[in-house]
Amino acid sequence: MLAILVAFLALPGTASAAGNVLTPYRDAVSYDANLTTTTADGRSWAGTETIIMRNASPGPIDRIWLRLWGNGPKGCTPRAVTVTALTGGRKGRLRKDCSALEVLLPAALHPGAHVSLTLTLSITAPQIQDRFGSAEGIMLFGNALPVVAQHDRSGWRLPLYSTYGESFVSSWAHFALTLHHPAALQVAASGSTTTTPDPVGGTATTTSEIDARDMFWAIGPMGEVTVTTPRGTVVHAWSTPEALGDREDAATDASNALQAIERHLPAYPYPEYDVIVARIAAGGGMEYPGIVITDGTDDVTRHETGHQWFYGWVGDDEFREPWIDEGLTSFLEYTWTGLDQPEPTCYRSSELLEKGPTTFATHSMDYWNRHVRQYIVAYDNPVCALRDEQRLLGNAGFTRVMRGIVVDHAQGFLSGVELRRAFRRAGGAASDAIWKRWALAPGG
Ligand SMILES: [Zn+2]
Repeated sequence: MLAILVAFLALPGTASAAGNVLTPYRDAVSYDANLTTTTADGRSWAGTETIIMRNASPGPIDRIWLRLWGNGPKGCTPRAVTVTALTGGRKGRLRKDCSALEVLLPAALHPGAHVSLTLTLSITAPQIQDRFGSAEGIMLFGNALPVVAQHDRSGWRLPLYSTYGESFVSSWAHFALTLHHPAALQVAASGSTTTTPDPVGGTATTTSEIDARDMFWAIGPMGEVTVTTPRGTVVHAWSTPEALGDREDAATDASNALQAIERHLPAYPYPEYDVIVARIAAGGGMEYPGIVITDGTDDVTRHETGHQWFYGWVGDDEFREPWIDEGLTSFLEYTWTGLDQPEPTCYRSSELLEKGPTTFATHSMDYWNRHVRQYIVAYDNPVCALRDEQRLLGNAGFTRVMRGIVVDHAQGFLSGVELRRAFRRAGGAASDAIWKRWALAPGG
């Protein structure tokens, strides 16, 4: 996400609880959803979702936690996402303000064994101008589809929803979406998308598939413009008819950003990229695999495009270590896609008057949710650290480390420990000192 955040001068605070973030099990195999609109504007949907999961942990499990992140913004009353029936397991507790649903399995699921769950569900985008909500008459379905919660050797991880950041990274899986909707409304979705008018007329069916860690769709009275990058990525930009100019700018900005990043990192992994111009209340934009929301400004479009690499391709624990994807993405925004190389506002740990100053910028969303005005530090300080690493290693050496991080962690996860280790292999103790200087590493 790139919200419009206010920088601050004074830094009260506590020591960060920077700890070891374990790599989650890659247990989700596939999600297959078939949904039909129940309202003419596309705000509400009903249908089924089949989730296939493999027990990737070393021991048997008797339950699975699903995340109903769509209930995050509004909580339990009314629930935006409800599971009315379930096959393959039995509904257990609803926790975390109805954003976590426990599924009790009929028998223990042994390591390596698969289970198939089919949910009958209804989804209604709340009346808020948000990534799961609506903006300018476009219905936005971010985090709307239930997904398997993160599970590592310490157990199931069930963070709360974060209004200001993200807590919803999921394990890599195959997503297939079939949407039945009025033919007058256009659908944009993660992945390769095809819309076919139904023979009975009036309605259409849109299908989309992607291998990724989440699936997003939007529907509304949108127009579209398409550009193709020189290596063949098809970029669709969408907006209301009134925002035609913004849509054209967004298509160009997104195409330029993809090409700029591809000069340094492995190429964008999908044939299609979608950009939706819609102004959400938080300001800025929001990233999903293969598709983003932007307010139409070039810096936001560049930032959200950068998230296709960090968050989308290389995942991280967005709740416990938001600085990983926001920091690496902000570096792409500021340094590898920005023509004018703007200077972010960074704070040296030596300037921070508090306990544990060298880890201040590594706080979790639990901290930033309560100190929203300071959250920009998790974006900007890593940019200064990465620019120092670039000076230390030289352009070629730095780019080699960044490429290696993408190759080694593609479709998986990157922790702060692993990020620092990758740079230490190239830069040794001088590299470690840089992370500490910018409040991104434990130590005195
Ligand atoms: Zn972001």
